[in-house]
Amino acid sequence: MGKPADTDLINTFFSSRGSENKEKYARFEQLSEKITWLAVILGALVVQLPFGEDLNKESIYLLCFLILVSAFIWYRLLPKKYIGLTKIFIYTLVTVVFIAFLVHSTGGIAGYTIFLFFLPAITAAMVMPPFHTLAVTMFIVSLIFGEAFIEPGLRASNLSLAILHSWALFLVVFYSRAESSEASLAKEREEKEILEKEKTLGQLKDEFVFIISHKLKQPASTIRGCLEEISSKYSRVLNPEAKKILELTKLNSGRLSKLLDDLLDVSRIEKGSLKVEASDVFIKPLVNEVLSSLFFEARNKKISVSQKGDLDIAVKADADRLKEVLTNLVNNAIKYTSEGGHVEVEVRNEGEFARVLVSDNGIGIDEEDQKHLFEKFYRVQNEKTKTIKGSGLGLFITKQLVEKMGGEVGVSSKIGQGTSVYFTLPHW
Ligand code: ADP
Repeated sequence: MGKPADTDLINTFFSSRGSENKEKYARFEQLSEKITWLAVILGALVVQLPFGEDLNKESIYLLCFLILVSAFIWYRLLPKKYIGLTKIFIYTLVTVVFIAFLVHSTGGIAGYTIFLFFLPAITAAMVMPPFHTLAVTMFIVSLIFGEAFIEPGLRASNLSLAILHSWALFLVVFYSRAESSEASLAKEREEKEILEKEKTLGQLKDEFVFIISHKLKQPASTIRGCLEEISSKYSRVLNPEAKKILELTKLNSGRLSKLLDDLLDVSRIEKGSLKVEASDVFIKPLVNEVLSSLFFEARNKKISVSQKGDLDIAVKADADRLKEVLTNLVNNAIKYTSEGGHVEVEVRNEGEFARVLVSDNGIGIDEEDQKHLFEKFYRVQNEKTKTIKGSGLGLFITKQLVEKMGGEVGVSSKIGQGTSVYFTLPHW
C-alpha cells in the first residue's frame, strides 16, 4: 500500500512549511470552530420542525451535546498541550468513546447512528501511521462487539451485525488509506520533479553566468590594457579634464575586471570545479605584494597600513588564491574605513595553524549583519555603506577559498570602532 498516509503530513505542516501555513491553519481552525457551533445550533433548531412521530429528538440532543463537548476538547482544551498527530490521535479516541455512547443510547448495534464510527476511522486512515490507524480501528471494532454483547436476547443477530459493521469498517479504512497514500505519493513525485527542475535551472543559470563572464573577460582586459597604455604614454599630453576622465575610466574598467573574476570564481564554486593547488607559501612576501598593490587606495584616503606578528612563517596554500584572499580583506578594510584611519595585517603562529588577521578602525559591522557576512551577494545596507561600491561577493569567495585550503574564516566587529576579519591556514 506504499508509504503511510504520511505520519509526517501533519508534522511537516506544523514544522517545515513556514509560519505562513501555521497562520493559515490557525485561521482555518477559527473558522471551523464557528461553523461547528453554528451546525449544533441549527441541528437543535431543525428538530423543532414538525417531522411526525418517528424522530427520536433525545438522540439528536445527545448528538449535539457530544459534538459540543468534543469541539470544546478539540478547539479549546487540546491546543494548549498537544499539536499535530498526538492531538488528532487523542481526539479520535475521545470521539470514538462519545460515538459508542451515542450508539448505545440510540438503538445500539441496529441503530442508525452506527455509521458515525466510520468518521474517526477515515480520519485515522488518512492522516495517521499504520499502527495508530490499526489501534483506532481495533478500538472501534471492540466497542461494536461490546455493544453487541451488552444487549441480551438478540445475541446471534447482534453478533452478525457486529461482524458486518466491522467488515465494512475495515473496507473503508483500507480504501481511505490506499487513496491517501496514492495522493501523498503523487505529491511527493510532483515535489521531486519541481526540485529537479529547479536544480537544472540553477545549473543552467550558473553555466550562463560562467560563459558570459568568460566571454566578457577578454574584451574587458583588452580595454584595461589599452587604458594603461594611454595613461603611461600619453598622459603628459592630456589636459587635466581628459586625465581625470581617463583615471575614472581606468578605475571602472578595473572594477569590471574584478567583478568578472569574482563571477567566474562563484560559478566555479557552484559547479564544484574551483581548484586550489597547495604548496608552501611564505606569508611575508605575499602580504608585501598585496599592500603595495593597494598602496594608492590607502594613500588616497590617508589610511596608514602596518603589519605585525610572525610574518616569516610558511603556510600550506595556493599562492594566487591566498593573494586573492588577502587582497579582498585588505581592500575591504580600506574601503570601509574613513579617511585618516588605520589598517593592520597581523600573523599569529598558533600550533598547527597560522592565523592572519586584517583589522581596521573603520565603520564596523553590527551583530546581525556579521551572521550573514560570508553569504553570496550579502552587503550591509546602512547610511555609511550606501555610497561604497561593491558586489557582496568578496567575503563569500574568501570563505570558500580558505575552507578549500583547509582553514576557516571569522569576524569580530563593533559598530563605530572597527572590524577584524581573520582566517587560518595549516602550516607547511
Ligand atoms: P563588497 O563587494 O560589498 O565589499 P564583501 O563580500 O567583500 O562585498 O563584503 C560584504 C559586506 O561586508 C560589505 O558590503 C560590507 O558592508 C561588509 N564589510 C566587509 N568588510 C568590512 C570591514 N572591514 N568593515 C566594515 N564592513 C565590512
